[in-house]
Amino acid sequence: MTSMKMNRVITLGKRPIGKPKKENFEFKEEEYPRIKDGEILLKTKYVSVDPYLRGRMNVADSFIEPFKLNEPLVSMIIAEVVDSKNDDYKNGEYISAMLSWKQYQSHSGDSLNKLLNTAKDIPLSAYLGVLGLPGFTAYLALGKIGTPKKGETLLVSGAAGAVGSIVGQIGKLNGCRVVGIAGSDEKINHLIQDFGFDAGINYKTSKDTHREISEKCPDGVDIYFDNVGGEILDAVMQHINEFARIVNCGAISNYNKERVPKGIRLEGILNEKRAKMQGFSVLDHAEEFPEAAEQLSEWIQENKLQYDETIRKGFDNIPNAFIEIFEGKNTGKMLVEI
Ligand code: NDP
Repeated sequence: MTSMKMNRVITLGKRPIGKPKKENFEFKEEEYPRIKDGEILLKTKYVSVDPYLRGRMNVADSFIEPFKLNEPLVSMIIAEVVDSKNDDYKNGEYISAMLSWKQYQSHSGDSLNKLLNTAKDIPLSAYLGVLGLPGFTAYLALGKIGTPKKGETLLVSGAAGAVGSIVGQIGKLNGCRVVGIAGSDEKINHLIQDFGFDAGINYKTSKDTHREISEKCPDGVDIYFDNVGGEILDAVMQHINEFARIVNCGAISNYNKERVPKGIRLEGILNEKRAKMQGFSVLDHAEEFPEAAEQLSEWIQENKLQYDETIRKGFDNIPNAFIEIFEGKNTGKMLVEI
């Protein structure tokens, strides 16, 4: 008797309440995919786990449709073409796309991004981080909304993460004084010593965030790149300068909350300071990804931009890696290598 080759899949078993747990995910087996004419077979290599996926696990989400229960979860994935009945793809080619959390999947080949001519010395995994959506978010949101100028103070939260660590370094390349907010002394020291940040605040141990912001940003805050929202945003708003720009990139501190907590009212401060606060979604800027990729790769090759990756191994660890983001276990991009 021949044993049938099975394919593993991760689905959303139960919608999380609060912080996601292992029990929210289900591992299933399905028949190994067979491809039809015109299709390709993809083998998952790297899976990106991202904070925004948490929003998609709720019943309703503001900008992308929610995940369906008992269906595979989906995120940015780098996969290898391991079989092809499509003339546009050859075995051994790598692609990135929004794909299902499956070990193998068949695909029509439409809307895949081929990772051809990947720059020497840049690993494939970087195309999910610094040269993927997090890097593009950092570059485009800071450039378009933050508009950094020489001598200004840029304060960034989630500073040691995939987006924040790139934002801070681009701020330095633009001549800003850069201060990072992150969740451990180790992260802060790393940002200062290795990524050129001028100062940092550990929000988990800080007894007085206001005093620390005043001390670390003695000239006030010209640009606040906000990845976390909540109380940190409330505190920063008390320190913004006239004509400050607040980039509302993300609000991870709220993602696991059943009710978004109330904070200070912002209209008075925004008006008094003639400050601008603007939301951002990288999905609005697809036509600018090539420009962002080119500039970011150039800085990497010139050794002006560093990036971190936290890589967990094994298909079974995808849910854990996702949960760990909310525990601050990652430095730079959190990924799973299969
Ligand atoms: P990160 O790599 O920054 O990982 C998330 C980090 O957030 C953790 O490492 C942790 O670090 C910190 N964190 C977790 N929980 C909290 C909390 N309760 N309060 C404060 N900090 C917390 O993720 P990304 O770089 O991928 O994303 C950063 C932000 O940018 C997210 O809000 C995300 O939703 C947003 N984003 C927005 C995009 C857009 O188009 N607008 C695109 C991509 C991302 P620590 O140790 O410091 O706590």
